[in-house]
Amino acid sequence: MSVQRYAVIGHPVSHSLSPRIHAAFARQAGIALEYSAIDAAPEDFDAVLAEFAAEGGIGANITLPHKTRAAQICNYLSEAAQRAGAVNTLIRTATGWQGDNTDGMGLVRDLTDRHSLDLRSRRTLLIGAGGAARGVAPALLDAGIGDLYIVNRTAERADALADVLAQPGRVHPRYLNDIGNLGNFDLVINATSAARGGDALPSLPINLVAPRGAAVDLSYGEAAVPFLAWARSARAHDCIDGLGMLVEQAAESFQRWHKVRPETDAVYEMLRNRDAILVTAD
Ligand code: NAP
Repeated sequence: MSVQRYAVIGHPVSHSLSPRIHAAFARQAGIALEYSAIDAAPEDFDAVLAEFAAEGGIGANITLPHKTRAAQICNYLSEAAQRAGAVNTLIRTATGWQGDNTDGMGLVRDLTDRHSLDLRSRRTLLIGAGGAARGVAPALLDAGIGDLYIVNRTAERADALADVLAQPGRVHPRYLNDIGNLGNFDLVINATSAARGGDALPSLPINLVAPRGAAVDLSYGEAAVPFLAWARSARAHDCIDGLGMLVEQAAESFQRWHKVRPETDAVYEMLRNRDAILVTAD
């Protein structure tokens, strides 16, 4: 039987944990597959993907900065991908690529199943309006959070995300530098890549997190350290990084490709217990 070819495509991508996660899932399921990390600069993405397909690639995870472009090249998008305007999972069909977005489901599964958070009615602040924010916002709304406030360095992108979500009574774009006037939140999510570039987020008020509230960084490893340090000083009841989301969104992709739902806890623990998690997030 020939080995099935999969990959994660991003830029940079060399430190991605996705090859290890999918190799572990495949061992668990008894599936022979090859899953590699492919670096593609933005201008090379289309050509790299075409080459991958020509060499037998049948599924790919797409990470920063290609998620929006990936949505544009698909001939079919799942509802999640359409609502996000971004694709993190490609599935090859006879007629081209089918695109899905598993980031939102991955985050919600991690928060509700692994961390036992009840998301219902939580007044939520989403910091960031890039690909990850677009992926998780619809899933959070579907999971029953209360009002959703969105702030972003580039205010227009927060407005655009709020427009796409189309729930004006419930979703409120605001200016990042007005964050001190928004009250406190039961759930504060950092969906920016600020720390990946070594930048600090603008300083966040210490009273942003409500009593028993949760603070979640979609990044993990070193990139999550500054936000989680702030979250602890803000006395967040739950301080959660993006490692669990990473494993859960990978499990959702694996299920789309192989029709098998992998067991995620062992893989999460393996990664959590290694120093090697101090790497760049997907
Ligand atoms: P992206 O599309 O490039 O968006 C980046 C976001 O960060 C934008 O909102 C951007 O604001 C903001 N930002 C960047 N530098 C900033 C700074 N210095 N100050 C304030 N805001 C800044 O990236 P993405 O795909 O959304 O990824 C965001 C983060 O989520 C990354 O760290 C990524 O690793 C993580 N992530 C994790 C998972 C997981 O499974 N755990 C999945 C997806 C993403 P502007 O709009 O103003 O540029």
